[in-house]
Amino acid sequence: MMNRQGRPTAAGDTSAQAHPTFTGNYGLEIEEPLLFEIGRAETTGVDLPAPKKVKSRLGKLARDGAIGLVGLSEPETLRHYVRLSQKNFGIDTGLFSLGSCTMKHNPRLNEKMARLPGLGDIHPLQPQSTVQGALELIDTLAHYLKELTGMAAVAMSPKAGAHGELCGMMAIKAALEASGQGHRKIVLVPESAHGTNPATAALIGFEVKPVPAQADGTVHVADVKAALTSDVAAIMLTNPNTCGIFEKEIVEIAAAIHKAGAYFYCDGANFNAIVGKARPGDLGVDAMHINLHKTFSTPHGGGGPGAGPVVLSERLAAFVPYPFVHADKAYVLVEEATKIVKGEKPFGRMTAFHGQMGMFVRALAYMLSHGSDGMKQASEDAVLNANYIRASLADLMSLPFGDQPCMHEALFDDTWLKDTGVTTLDFAKAMIDEGYHPMTMYFPLVVHGAMLIEPTESESKASLDLFIATLRDLAMSATKGEVDRFKGAPYHAPRRRLDETRAARNPVLRWTPPAPYAEAAE
Ligand SMILES: *Cc1c(COP(=O)(O)O)cnc(C)c1O
Repeated sequence: MMNRQGRPTAAGDTSAQAHPTFTGNYGLEIEEPLLFEIGRAETTGVDLPAPKKVKSRLGKLARDGAIGLVGLSEPETLRHYVRLSQKNFGIDTGLFSLGSCTMKHNPRLNEKMARLPGLGDIHPLQPQSTVQGALELIDTLAHYLKELTGMAAVAMSPKAGAHGELCGMMAIKAALEASGQGHRKIVLVPESAHGTNPATAALIGFEVKPVPAQADGTVHVADVKAALTSDVAAIMLTNPNTCGIFEKEIVEIAAAIHKAGAYFYCDGANFNAIVGKARPGDLGVDAMHINLHKTFSTPHGGGGPGAGPVVLSERLAAFVPYPFVHADKAYVLVEEATKIVKGEKPFGRMTAFHGQMGMFVRALAYMLSHGSDGMKQASEDAVLNANYIRASLADLMSLPFGDQPCMHEALFDDTWLKDTGVTTLDFAKAMIDEGYHPMTMYFPLVVHGAMLIEPTESESKASLDLFIATLRDLAMSATKGEVDRFKGAPYHAPRRRLDETRAARNPVLRWTPPAPYAEAAE
């Protein structure tokens, strides 16, 4: 292989220098020791006067040795945290091809809005009269979420997609129980579903029954009908689904589900592909969570924070959990039965407070700055970008569901890697050397060696072209048998291949000081 600077790689040599990358990028991160390794117990960044004589009331509980916390000078502290902040590879650092997880563009305007003192500095326990603007903002965002989805109500408090699923399924459970249908215990979940779907259903006592997907990657109404019995409570269907394909029979599936007296839960994590194009309410959906962190911007990393409002159909609207906002002469946050004036029957309370205020601000800023035409275009661009990638790689990499257009993400399988000695994992690790966060691997499970690529709407054609050229270069290298480039990758990242199973099963959670530095003996 030659890189773009014309430097050749040396076969068999596993040193980083022998493997110049195609892009000229070298891994994702630079090394940074722990605070305990760079700090010293005797250093402090501040000078505090010695305390006046105090009488300790700790008795035997008082510490008798030094606390052992390390100190740093101010510049050392600043450098440490600035370097750590640079280790977080994200959408601000480079193209983030992770599928199903939609790493969105986070416009700085949204950040600015979320930090306005009147929004950023309020406290959830402030008297309601002092946070009328914040309540209005929640109510306005709720209005747009209902408008965009064509649904009757929305529960704003869930803190993530999975939490929203729980909320939506609890609303369905409450509605079934209220209508004497509490015996319905089965939830249908397609095999391609995100793991949170069956987990949610099981967590609240439902029994999960899988529904197969057909050769085109979608669920067919005939299979749903075959699984429908009088004890089915709901179906949980993702649309567009986790294979990046729009469920073409969704309207017929919804009709069949309703005819059988069950509810239609839609996993809306992929709503970013259809905003402004299709309204889930029109498709027959009864409940759907919206990941604000996947569809309406907001930073999305390190596992949070997220926000997962759930939109609900007319049939479920009354069951929205506490707290919710009533817009009257003033905005009222309803948190108890005595405040209900509109016949709501909340099934309980999902969170201590009212949802993720910072996310609400970002989502509303995103909506208002894009406008309805802009949001529609963002969806169209997301789909266009994914199809550009799909079409540009289809001659080298294999598509599990044939040459059909995808929605916002392109799914490849590992058929094309057969007999090359390179696996999906190896391919993903080599992408790290090229400065790209790998795509989603081995998900959805229905596809062997899945590689799910979601470029998002905000990548320019130039950045997509470089990404495609890099993946083509890697793909050709794999099929030519240049196994070295993959097996030892990543060569340039500070950490190479970790034993992920051991790390999960046997985590080392206590830091132990390194052995004192000793000069190597002659
Ligand atoms: C991300 C995702 C979820 C879970 O959402 P979180 O906000 O991560 O809890 C559920 N389903 C699908 C399809 C997803 O992509």
